[in-house]
Amino acid sequence: MTVPAARKKRVVLLGATGSIGENTLRVLAAHRDKLELVGIAAHSRWEKLAAIARRFDVRHVGLFDEAAHTAARANLAAFPAGTHLVGGLSGLVELAQLPAADTVLVAVVGTTGLAPALAALAAGKDLALASKEILVLAGKFVLAAAKKSGANILPVDSEHNAVFQCLEGHPHAGVRRIVLTASGGAFRDWPAERLAHVTPADALKHPNWSMGPKITVDSATLANKGLELIEAQCLFGLRPEQCTAVLHPQSIVHAFVEFTDGAMLAQLCPPSMTFPIQHALLHPVRAPGVDSALDFTKLLSLEFRPIDESRFPLLRLARESMAAAGVAPAIFNAANEVAVAAFLASEIPFLAIPRVVEHVLATIPNFEPADLPSVLATDTESRRLARLKILDPQS
Ligand code: NAD
Ligand code: MG
Repeated sequence: MTVPAARKKRVVLLGATGSIGENTLRVLAAHRDKLELVGIAAHSRWEKLAAIARRFDVRHVGLFDEAAHTAARANLAAFPAGTHLVGGLSGLVELAQLPAADTVLVAVVGTTGLAPALAALAAGKDLALASKEILVLAGKFVLAAAKKSGANILPVDSEHNAVFQCLEGHPHAGVRRIVLTASGGAFRDWPAERLAHVTPADALKHPNWSMGPKITVDSATLANKGLELIEAQCLFGLRPEQCTAVLHPQSIVHAFVEFTDGAMLAQLCPPSMTFPIQHALLHPVRAPGVDSALDFTKLLSLEFRPIDESRFPLLRLARESMAAAGVAPAIFNAANEVAVAAFLASEIPFLAIPRVVEHVLATIPNFEPADLPSVLATDTESRRLARLKILDPQS
């Protein structure tokens, strides 16, 4: 959506209390002359949401969780006067279609943000997308919604934002491949035999990035890079073999684009999500960043190494799902989400996460979905089978 330069771009932020949410608020606070927050939503932390609403004077507020929504209703005085409070998934969809909004930033963990994302695109709002799981689940339907209304999808995930920046102005036919960088996560330098005994607390210690728990575990298994390869294939209209990844422990280069003549472009910035968030929200405008840029007066060394897939079976499973297409990526995503939640709840060991995902992928026959309901039914069935495998690992 083109916003006249004279007026502020109006933003709805779904997932305002999370890690992406907090970084987005830092960007919004720094650019109050260009951006205005008009709607916010979160799962259940209504007091934190009320504080955000007061700070940014936001009058459209949503809480997904019913008990939290009820508690917030009983405490309306904690919100700005005249607040319109909505609840549940229908509340998130309503916020995504706010007539006042130009851009909807979806940063809700997992796939709950799918319906709001589709609603935003159908209403012609630009979608700033952090929730990669949405594209892995239902990429072709999300792209179709954007094409139908002419709205833009602006990637917030740092690697995809980097590819987006490198591709600008380059014809699609000139692209040979893209290379996403992977930090390697919490266990990058651990010997394989130690992985059997890792705890959720170990997996939640990411060397470079501070993020929510699900994506931090996905980084430790490299499922995150797998999800990102599928996300990139979908967003940039590439073939599976054109989407590759490399280990880069410093997380300074976020992606490369290699062109057919062998030249490569890369995007670099420090590992803070404020950079891609600001790029996506202000696009195509550039403005001073929230965090300091790279400093070449200090020693800066950049390393790149191939990823040892034998240590990261979820990356292999994600690549195989991407190549298989159909609903395989949706199955991968759903089984992984359930297995990660079980690992975080100490129900299964770390190394059981790929075993659950592989089992579900091998059990459900793949097919090309004709419509969204058939993808959602596969998602539900994948979650059911993953739970059964968690409860009975011998099954
Ligand atoms: P997080 O766990 O820190 O925060 C999640 C947010 O989503 C919270 O505000 C929570 O209230 C909200 N939420 C959860 N369930 C909800 C529901 N049912 N309805 C409404 N709101 C709900 O997670 P995060 O790290 O901010 O990640 C959010 C998304 O962004 C994920 O999809 C992740 O893969 C993606 N992402 C995150 C990062 C990062 O640096 N954190 C980087 C790239 C992509
Ligand atoms: Mg990323």
